Amino acid sequence: MTDPTPINRELEPRIVDELAVLDLDRTLINTSKITELVFSFLAKSGVEPGRIYEAMEYVEAQSGNSFFLFDYIEAEFSKELLEAVKDKIINDDAMLDEIRQDLLCTGADQLIYALEGQGTPWVIVTYGEKNYQEFKLALFSKLIGREAQGVPSIITDTKNKSEWATNEWFSGDDEFGEVPAEVMGELLLVRTVTIVDDKTSNLQSPDGRVVGVLVDNSINPASGVVSTAELADAVNSGVRLAEIAHL
Ligand SMILES: [Mg+2]
Repeated sequence: MTDPTPINRELEPRIVDELAVLDLDRTLINTSKITELVFSFLAKSGVEPGRIYEAMEYVEAQSGNSFFLFDYIEAEFSKELLEAVKDKIINDDAMLDEIRQDLLCTGADQLIYALEGQGTPWVIVTYGEKNYQEFKLALFSKLIGREAQGVPSIITDTKNKSEWATNEWFSGDDEFGEVPAEVMGELLLVRTVTIVDDKTSNLQSPDGRVVGVLVDNSINPASGVVSTAELADAVNSGVRLAEIAHL
């Protein structure tokens, strides 16, 4: 006999102090290494080296622009080839295992585990080309051992994530932001949203309830800017991301 009571009827929203919104590209994953990987698999799939080289040069010249890599590969080569390459990469466990450390920003997996240990819910919010972002999210899930369940994520088409989070979740003057159940599997009422991103333009918040932590995972990081690994250490030692937010 089925119970006529809707299953969620008795569920109260969960109140949390903080929701961590994590950027994907260059905060959790080493995007340029993933681009290289895609090109190396295009080469392995029989595309001649001259064409690969030209395409890579073109892509490199686009850095800093909004550039849709997968759209470009589809147009330049074919959709079938792109899909085949995506499949080959995601199913090559031995290769992924070998270059795992190159693909992840150092400490990215540790940051996720540290937030979970602290009881701070987290969600990846990434901007850009849906097809490529979905692929990178699937790759990230696999690299951190979450292939089966995937990772909580949102692909936005808004560039400033602070503004986006404010508009999405803090519509009123209420003390708490409301993060709908579609995002985390349950309705969350959050006091603070902390955005972790490698671009200051994503952290320009019009609202004090949305704060930002700038990260820099490059070889020569800007002084005073933390890396993802340093953030993971801080969270592991009991610090909340919002406590180190400076933007
Ligand atoms: Mg980024």
